[in-house]
Amino acid sequence: DLQGIQAPVAVAVEAAGSKGLPQASGLADDLFASDGQITKRPIRALTLSALAPRMGELLWDIGGGSGSVSVEWCLAARGARAITFEPRASRLENIRANAEAFGLDHRMQAVLGKAPDVLQGQPLPDCVFIGGGGSQALLDHLWDILPAGTRLVANGVTLETETLLMQAHAARGGHLLKAEIAEAGPLGSMRDWRRARPVIQWSVTR
Ligand code: SAH
Repeated sequence: DLQGIQAPVAVAVEAAGSKGLPQASGLADDLFASDGQITKRPIRALTLSALAPRMGELLWDIGGGSGSVSVEWCLAARGARAITFEPRASRLENIRANAEAFGLDHRMQAVLGKAPDVLQGQPLPDCVFIGGGGSQALLDHLWDILPAGTRLVANGVTLETETLLMQAHAARGGHLLKAEIAEAGPLGSMRDWRRARPVIQWSVTR
């Protein structure tokens, strides 16, 4: 039911007047409809840099959540397109609401289901992002089906995914990044650092 979902970006665009939205990746989290499962702004900015979208390219966004990564992929490069894969129906509604609110519903598609099965029959991408549902089976499957030259970026926060990505890096090369970010918040009348969970990011070209 798209009617019931507010489109925060419409409010923000209105407030910005003729200036419009910022042009850099890493838009504010509250521009996206989400249930809290969203790649946070600083990590999203690092992720878009690693995904490195180019004109007309197609992204597979596996574990789409709110679709924020797909939205920013499409905003970053002319004619770029994204297919988001997400098993939770309520999140698919957010993905579709965000695609529409950002004026991207002609370039973003949301597909209900779990990877790797849900990938069957989809047009092959130029780049793949794994934001959820990472597993050895998924990585092996992607390695089988993706043509040489396809870029892959996977983010993880759990020990299990960290282990998976460290082993994948050892086996297949690429680049492994650990982002440990803290933001200042109030502590009584003073401030302290709020640590986010460390995020492991593996980037590789097939
Ligand atoms: N990048 C997203 C957040 C991802 S949260 C954003 O910015 O909004 C991880 C998501 O992965 C969750 O929504 C979860 O439902 C999804 N997920 C979990 N297992 C999956 C699988 N096997 N295939 C596809 N998605 C999966």
